[in-house]
Amino acid sequence: MNYSVFTEEHQQVRQTIRKFVEKEIVPHVEEWEKQGYFADWVFPRLGELGFLGLRYPEKYGGAGGDYFMGIVLAEELARSGCGALAMAVAVQTDMATPPIMQFGTEEQIQKYLIPAIQGQKVACLGITEPNAGSDVASIETRAVRDGDHWVINGRKIFITNGVRADFIVLVAKTDPALGYNGVSLFLVDKGTPGFYVTRKLEKVGMRSSDTAELLFEDCRVPVENLLGQENRGFHQIMWELQGERLMGMACAVAGAQRTLEKTLEYARQRSQFGRPLVKFQVIAHRLAEMATEIEAARQLVYSTARKYAAGQYPVQEIAMAKLICARTSYRVADTALQIHGGYGYMMEYDVQRAWRDSRLNRIGGGTDEIMLEIISKSLGL
Ligand SMILES: Cc1cc2nc3c(=O)[nH]c(=O)nc-3n(C[C@H](O)[C@H](O)[C@H](O)COP(=O)(O)OP(=O)(O)OC[C@H]3O[C@@H](n4cnc5c(N)ncnc54)[C@H](O)[C@@H]3O)c2cc1C
Repeated sequence: MNYSVFTEEHQQVRQTIRKFVEKEIVPHVEEWEKQGYFADWVFPRLGELGFLGLRYPEKYGGAGGDYFMGIVLAEELARSGCGALAMAVAVQTDMATPPIMQFGTEEQIQKYLIPAIQGQKVACLGITEPNAGSDVASIETRAVRDGDHWVINGRKIFITNGVRADFIVLVAKTDPALGYNGVSLFLVDKGTPGFYVTRKLEKVGMRSSDTAELLFEDCRVPVENLLGQENRGFHQIMWELQGERLMGMACAVAGAQRTLEKTLEYARQRSQFGRPLVKFQVIAHRLAEMATEIEAARQLVYSTARKYAAGQYPVQEIAMAKLICARTSYRVADTALQIHGGYGYMMEYDVQRAWRDSRLNRIGGGTDEIMLEIISKSLGL
């Protein structure tokens, strides 16, 4: 299908990433998923190939591409069948580093963004806490100014890349009396005294990405590590969350497309009652429904991305796209598993991984219920 959002250049980059994924990623996915950690060479390799800087300016080592270049990367990584890797990379390219580009000083760009584009530094973003998930404004991590330093105390949970990360973009309260307006962002390096990775969490899906619980105990960071304006962190991070949600959904849809293709293949070759599964109308209709829902979700991602890329702030559409894509990806995976029958429930068929991985789409980056809240508010309810 021609969506008229991708240029010849996008398609060339897509082919390059696709070849890389098939040759250098796919052969390792099973092993990485079993060990619960993808190899440390992946980030530097992606950096070397220029994939981590597709959307960043050339003067910082990026390729100067547009938002759709990022979508191409997200889609092609998702086609590896390893949602974990696509998610970990999206955290690097679309969650943790955009605020540095947007709000960072030149020194911060040199110290954090450029090595992140090169894959020499891995980044994570710390918003969620044990007592504050959907309700971001209720975070308790506190940063108090003490001379030339900020002293940080608090805990973060469910932090993607948190175990392997070289630094964190940390969200902390700097003026609790101001609520939303008392939050700031900080760059905190791994190895800073008082910054601990307390646990690597075990997950149902996305197993080869690392997810951490973090502790900050009288962790002192120099004042120059404040990212952006003091007390503007909530607004800065809310802007960032919009782009991240959309990119995550491009991954979700591409993953669903791969699941559909694999299931079509399976249903063509598996016969029962003397005919291939696709010859049962009920199965054919399910496959047709999957294809239709995926197409609708994809069109919504592209049309919303077009607005986002043009500098608009389409919060309502992003929430709608997040809701539809997350639900579609999970429904597609669940139906695909059903079509695989007992084989679908076996670890040797990777449809089970799509089923486990896609479940996260309805929780991470804002739950279905929070998307419905945003949409309701946009309707004036
Ligand atoms: C694998 C994984 C990776 C993650 N990576 C990161 C990361 O890198 N960085 C980061 O900061 N966070 C990360 N998260 C956290 C993620 O964004 C949160 O889990 C998510 O926002 C939900 O917060 P919560 O888990 O605390 O659930 P809660 O907020 O406790 O919600 C529990 C339930 O209540 C519902 N609920 C809450 N409020 C309302 C309401 N007002 N109306 C109706 N229903 C409501 C929710 O929808 C949900 O069903 C990750 C999570 C996971 C699981």
